Amino acid sequence: MSEAWITLATNDRYAQGALTLLNSLHSSGTNRKIHCLITNEISTSVRQELEAKFDEVTVVDVFNSNDSDNLALIGRPDLGVTFTKFHCWRLTQYTKAVFLDADTMVIRNSDELFERPDFSAAADIGWPDMFNSGVFVFSPSLETYRALVALATSSGSFDGGDQGLLNEYFSNWRDLPSAHRLPFIYNMTAGEFYSYAAAYRKYGAQTKIVHFIGAEKPWSSNTREIGIHKSEHYQQWHTFSQQKFSPTKKVQEPRSSQVSH
Ligand code: UDP
Ligand code: MN
Repeated sequence: MSEAWITLATNDRYAQGALTLLNSLHSSGTNRKIHCLITNEISTSVRQELEAKFDEVTVVDVFNSNDSDNLALIGRPDLGVTFTKFHCWRLTQYTKAVFLDADTMVIRNSDELFERPDFSAAADIGWPDMFNSGVFVFSPSLETYRALVALATSSGSFDGGDQGLLNEYFSNWRDLPSAHRLPFIYNMTAGEFYSYAAAYRKYGAQTKIVHFIGAEKPWSSNTREIGIHKSEHYQQWHTFSQQKFSPTKKVQEPRSSQVSH
């Protein structure tokens, strides 16, 4: 039995996110491997840094939806490349894996996620009957990979990105048993809806994984203009990004000897 965290960076900007995510995972004391998917667009020096720090790095081909119409609808012309994410289903050396977007950070140990069934994800804040594809638990499978590629080629994604296609493929997610629905604390996205501020004040301390959704990322230069540089999670991201690399020894205990959390 082998289990791993998996992320993706197709360029040097998102690689900054992946490296910060890696530091946050080390700080959380995880005993699972951490694996990064990259593409050839990454520069040589950044690739070497990723290879030195991650437990595994795999170079994959860029897979792009090239669907400018639907991407314009969500205002994110950059997201076609997120189809590259589907390569994570090919990592069949793992029986169970957790995919994390490069714009997430783990602020408290979340290793219990590996006990969740294939396929598990948290609700999207824009349309909570669908899941957000930035954090999900899955079992790698070539069959699923091929089915996703076939669906991408035949019908495409309704939002032009990976989230639309994955929700199309796992279209029964909303009606699955509750174990498949991850609590919001595993994919906490700051919201502007009026109920958010008070809920965050009450429950925010329970947050385990923060997700910086949207076009502005903590590594973008204009975060000051839009005001997010003041948020505590943004500052925490910067602390993790500057942290010295200190790998933890990965000794994964057999499932039977794990006590419940
Ligand atoms: N991604 C990437 N390069 C890109 C765009 C996206 O590597 O140019 C990867 C990265 O892992 C990223 C994920 O795809 O976290 C999903 O994109 P993003 O997080 O920007 O989408 P959002 O969460 O804002 O919807
Ligand atoms: Mn994201």
